Amino acid sequence: MLPELDQIEQNALKALEPIQDEAGLESWRIAHLGRSAPLMLVFDQLGKLSKEERPVIGRRANEIKRALEAAFSARSEALRQLALQRTLQTERLDVTLPGRAFTIGRLHPTTSNMRSIIRVFADMGFQVYRSPEVETDEYNFGLLNMPPHHPARDMWATFYTNMPNVSLRPHTSPGQIHVMRAYAPEPIRAILPGMCYRYEQISARKETQFYQIEVLAVGENITLGDLKGTVSDLARRLFGPNMRTRFRAAYFPFTEPSAEYDFECLLCHGKGCAVCAWTGWLEIGGCGMVHPIVLQNGGYDPARFSGFAAGLGTERIMMLKHHIEDIRYFWANDMRFLDQF
Ligand SMILES: [Zn+2]
Repeated sequence: MLPELDQIEQNALKALEPIQDEAGLESWRIAHLGRSAPLMLVFDQLGKLSKEERPVIGRRANEIKRALEAAFSARSEALRQLALQRTLQTERLDVTLPGRAFTIGRLHPTTSNMRSIIRVFADMGFQVYRSPEVETDEYNFGLLNMPPHHPARDMWATFYTNMPNVSLRPHTSPGQIHVMRAYAPEPIRAILPGMCYRYEQISARKETQFYQIEVLAVGENITLGDLKGTVSDLARRLFGPNMRTRFRAAYFPFTEPSAEYDFECLLCHGKGCAVCAWTGWLEIGGCGMVHPIVLQNGGYDPARFSGFAAGLGTERIMMLKHHIEDIRYFWANDMRFLDQF
């Protein structure tokens, strides 16, 4: 029986040599050291052997078992090392690669644009005054020379609420009354930036919310010349010393006389292009001399005081400046848009 044992050992060791992976190793262990392996069958048959043969065969079988177990762990360790080497080669960590930069938050383009416009007004001596976004009917319209049922109220698509006489402000003009009542009879030079809301069908040119800046100056001897000077200076400070402006007659219930003002087209510089509809001018906002009734509602005597007011849409200025074709981009939260500023 001893030669058979030698053969079992040789066969097992020979089968171990070509094995290259974990799975092969495991099937080898089952085949040569498992319960039904040839070596284990020898152990099962020990009882049937004679008294003389039993210790000899038993000792030899145990030797072979230990030898096979040792060969198995040696091979297993060798394969493990090999795999490690391979991983080190293929998945080498390149410590010279530049790190990934942290994304740092920054101001929304609307905010930074708003701030640069506010800075220009600050240079001209205007202070920021905040007024509410939810207003009473009286402030939104009544005190601005539009009593109930006045047809001019239809000029603003207003969000009304379930509370009687309470609506979202469709423009920043109600702030004029707030600031005048806060400071009358002192002179005022203020801008009122803030969000306005309109009940609009959302499209590339219309949003239900947008920013406006209201400009208001009240004092003695304030003239249309001051209004034109301020608006023209605003254009030059925002877009350069050669920027031209023009005024066109218009109607607003809270100013008299009223005008709309245009900046020279930022894209074609007055030559005419698709954006300015070949006119060379871009409409920026409305303005005018504060209506005597509005001055009176604000607490000023119109016989002694006068004032001018103007409004501008800040998104509109950004759209013109950067040739942005869709106003919805501002609130869509799309990083591909925001990352460009
Ligand atoms: Zn143009």
